[in-house]
Amino acid sequence: MIPRRTIVIGGGAAGIMAAGIAAQRGSSVILLEKMHQTGRKIGISGKGRCNLTNVADLDNFLTHFGKNGRFLRQCFQRFFSKDLIAFFESLNLPLVTERGGRVFPESGRALDVVRVLNSWLQGSGVVVRKSVPVSAILVNQGRVGGVICNGEKLACENIILATGGKSYPRTGSTGDGYRLAETLGHSIVPLRPALVPLVCSDPKVHRMAGLELRNVAVRLYLDGKRRGQEFGELAFTGFGLTGPIILTLSSLVVDTLDTNRQVSLSLDLKPALSEKKLDNRLIRDLTSRRGEQIGSILRGLMPQQMVPVCLEACDLPGDIDTGNFPAKMRKRLVQWLKDFRIEISGYRPIDEAIITAGGVKLKEIDPMTMESKIVKGLFLAGELLDLQADTGGYNLQAAFSTGWLAGSSVY
Ligand SMILES: Cc1cc2nc3c(=O)[nH]c(=O)nc-3n(C[C@H](O)[C@H](O)[C@H](O)COP(=O)(O)OP(=O)(O)OC[C@H]3O[C@@H](n4cnc5c(N)ncnc54)[C@H](O)[C@@H]3O)c2cc1C
Repeated sequence: MIPRRTIVIGGGAAGIMAAGIAAQRGSSVILLEKMHQTGRKIGISGKGRCNLTNVADLDNFLTHFGKNGRFLRQCFQRFFSKDLIAFFESLNLPLVTERGGRVFPESGRALDVVRVLNSWLQGSGVVVRKSVPVSAILVNQGRVGGVICNGEKLACENIILATGGKSYPRTGSTGDGYRLAETLGHSIVPLRPALVPLVCSDPKVHRMAGLELRNVAVRLYLDGKRRGQEFGELAFTGFGLTGPIILTLSSLVVDTLDTNRQVSLSLDLKPALSEKKLDNRLIRDLTSRRGEQIGSILRGLMPQQMVPVCLEACDLPGDIDTGNFPAKMRKRLVQWLKDFRIEISGYRPIDEAIITAGGVKLKEIDPMTMESKIVKGLFLAGELLDLQADTGGYNLQAAFSTGWLAGSSVY
């Protein structure tokens, strides 16, 4: 019997997994990738270390996707983090689990993930064609019939569309899949950047560009109401703020700013100390270091680059007599260290977002197979779908799992 032909469009996490699995299950598979390499986004993921997945249990894992997470339940019941970990270990890629349940290759190199995936694809018998952008999907009587690429028609019985989102377009994910899916009758939930750096117009913030803070807490206020809190790392940039805490809070911020509401962050530089304890520490420092400049005492509490900003914000003269430090000034200082307010005026463009929020409407996809409910033989997987999660390995697991399910379901 001649095997049925499956064309996979897109060689990212979802497409590679889908192609290899479909080939192992007996399909004749061609993977078409528009770039000259597959897996470019995997190669830059996790700051070059690739946070592959997370060992959180299923219920906890799903909460990281917001309300759309429930779509993934059946998919994750078939192929989840433990399966992905076993898969990579079977490819001789040892993994390590770090703080927060994040799983990385032990080598610390995302490119090792790409390398083992490419060899696995080759070993599975998938024909990989690079520098081949697909421009159209052909449909006959409600079922896929082939694709058009580089002016050529390729016939097939199944298509797995795994073209990714619209962020970091230099990796190849330029949003082609949304157009292809829309042409076939799918609806696209409006695209927005998610896990994206935030913009502030306050020059104080710009003056701290390059500064990275660890072990700080950030509270998020939307229209003056506290709506979230994160603990960890952040970085100041020439335009505003980035880093893990900021990216995580950004999803709430984007939707709020889009409706012209007010967003501010409160930075707690000393989350381990109550105001009282911090005040006692200041009293101790001021007493024991009597005569020293206030700037040098503050350097024990914050990075050097922050000191002038702090002095200005608290209205403290640099030459103030630290031996006679007024209590009301100490209070202002404590308050600033615990509640440094930053107004957020915007967010960076989708090109700079880690994830594209929005995408192909989930109601139009069968969650048991990833097949389109509109066109038979069309399967969709990965970031192209209206799925987006926090940082922590959740997004790649979703891409691998939906790819696995699509590859397992072709017929
Ligand atoms: C900087 C950065 C760091 C990240 N780090 C992490 C992390 O550590 N952990 C995590 O879980 N997630 C991370 N993510 C998110 C994660 O990488 C993505 O969600 C995931 O790679 C999406 O996989 P995908 O296969 O759906 O899409 P992609 O990886 O974007 O792959 C889509 C592929 O389709 C190809 N393509 C597009 N259009 C066409 C066409 N017309 N014809 C043929 N081919 C086409 C593209 O060239 C691309 O190769 C990160 C993202 C970024 C940008």
